[in-house]
Amino acid sequence: CKIDHYYQADSRCEILPIIDSTNQYLLDKIGQLRSGDCCVAEFQSKARGRRGRRWFSPFGSNLYFSMYWQLEQGVAAAMGLSLVVGIVIADTLRELSGQDIKVKWPNDLYLNDQKLAGILVELAGKTGDCAHAIIGIGVNLMMTNPDPNIVNQKWANLGKVDRNLLVARIVKNLNIKLSEFEKQGLAPFISDWNRLDNFANRPVKLLIGDNIIRGIAKGINEQGALMLEQDGKIHAHIGGEISLRGD
Ligand code: ATP
Repeated sequence: CKIDHYYQADSRCEILPIIDSTNQYLLDKIGQLRSGDCCVAEFQSKARGRRGRRWFSPFGSNLYFSMYWQLEQGVAAAMGLSLVVGIVIADTLRELSGQDIKVKWPNDLYLNDQKLAGILVELAGKTGDCAHAIIGIGVNLMMTNPDPNIVNQKWANLGKVDRNLLVARIVKNLNIKLSEFEKQGLAPFISDWNRLDNFANRPVKLLIGDNIIRGIAKGINEQGALMLEQDGKIHAHIGGEISLRGD
C-alpha cells in the first residue's frame, strides 16, 4: 500500500474536555485522519482496556491520549506496534520524570512494580494492504493505581511532568520510532525492551483463559512473542488472550 507519513510537525492534536473514549473518538474519524493525528481528553466516561475491560479515567490531570497510525504492513504488525509504543512512552516518561519506568508484556507500563499506564491498540479495517491503527494510552500521572486489591499503594509522583510537553514529546517520538519500526520491524527494539522489562529474568505466570503457565520471563522475540523459560527450555507465547503476572 502507498503510505504518506507526514512529518511530525504536521500532526494535528485535538484537546477535548470530556469524551467517552479517546480511541473511539479517533475510530469514528477514520478516513479524515493522517498518521500522527491525535487527541487528548481531561476525562473519559467509557475508556476501555483489552477485551472490553474498563480503564479508570477520572478528572485530575492524568494523560488520556490517542493517536492514529496507518500500518503499512497491515494487521500482522499490530503486536509489534504495541510493544514499540510501550518502549517510546516508557522512555519519554523516564526522560521527563527521572523515574524508573518499566514495560510489562504486552501493553502496560510499570513503576515500583505497579501498573502506571496502559496501552490499547485497536485496528479498524483496511485500505488496500494498510491497516488503520488507533493507539490509546492512559497514564496515571496524578493518582495511584485505582485497584483496591493493591495493599501497598505507592504514589507514582509524576505530577510534576508538564502534560503539554509530555504530549508534544510523545507525538514526536512516536512519529520517529513508528516510522523506524515500519522500515525495520521489531529487531532494533529488542535491546530497548530488555533494558526496560519489569519482569526480565523473574518468575511469572501467564493467565490464558482458565490455564496458568509458569516460567521465567526472558524478553521478547522479533515477532513480539513473550519468551518464557519453562523446564529449562525457551518457549514463545503470543496472542491477545494472555495476561502476565509476577509469580
Ligand atoms: P492486565 O493488566 O491484568 O494484564 P490487561 O493488560 O489486559 O490486563 P488492560 O486492558 O491494559 O489490562 O487494562 C484494563 C485493566 O487495567 C482493568 O481490568 C483494571 O484491572 C486495570 N485498570 C483500569 N484502570 C486503571 C488505571 N487507571 N490504572 C491502572 N490500572 C487500571
